Amino acid sequence: LRTQIIKSEKLSIVSELAASVAHEVRNPLTVVRGFIQLIGDEDGYDHLKKKEYVKLVLTELDRAQEIITDYLNLARHQYFAKKKLNISIVLHEVANLMTSYANYKTVTISAEIEDNLHVYGDATRLKQVFINLVKNSIEAVPELDGNVVIKAYASHEVIRVKIIDNGIGMSPEQIVRLGEPYFTLKEKGTGLGLTVTFSIIEHHNGTIRFQSELTKGTSVTVSFPFFREEDSHQID
Ligand code: ADP
Ligand code: MG
Repeated sequence: LRTQIIKSEKLSIVSELAASVAHEVRNPLTVVRGFIQLIGDEDGYDHLKKKEYVKLVLTELDRAQEIITDYLNLARHQYFAKKKLNISIVLHEVANLMTSYANYKTVTISAEIEDNLHVYGDATRLKQVFINLVKNSIEAVPELDGNVVIKAYASHEVIRVKIIDNGIGMSPEQIVRLGEPYFTLKEKGTGLGLTVTFSIIEHHNGTIRFQSELTKGTSVTVSFPFFREEDSHQID
């Protein structure tokens, strides 16, 4: 269910982009068509103007080319800078980073992270994923005996990262809505953290699962495939 929702959102971004490229390229093409028609109409135009028309046609074709190049560059920014990445290091960084936030709330963060877990990923974006998840956990736990644990280990074919908290938990109805843009139960929430998180995990061929019980706590499990040498040759 979750995957289907994410896919349809991505499709709508792709079709929006395609629609604006089509719209902008159509203008120069219309102009080009008009001039070619004019040139082809033997007595319909001033032959002395042929050079001028050809020049205009070429200018418009160059413009169409430019528009396409710009949009491709724009789309490329959504590409991920993936490489062989030691996610253990990323997770330690997140734990350190979030400890100050947790201390401020007197919440304990602990990390049980196996060394040298490698994925094929974008460090900045994956860091964002775990900051979002740990932040949600810190925000869900009680001020005094709040506890957040970050675990990471190799398991069969995948790397698993778990963020476990003893916070307010969620009902099954809430869990279904996670990742829905703007879904928040917080006074100052954006409801975008998990939307972004789900999309980044999807871009890494990963999965995310929530286990939660109201008033008991939540356990989030993110799984990624192991890095394989052939990933580096992948073109994306
Ligand atoms: P935000 O944090 O801005 O509300 P998110 O997309 O990060 O947006 O989270 C959406 C909602 O999911 C939160 O408002 C909260 O109700 C719920 N949620 C997420 N993680 C947890 C958690 N660990 N424990 C309890 N509720 C959570
Ligand atoms: Mg959040």
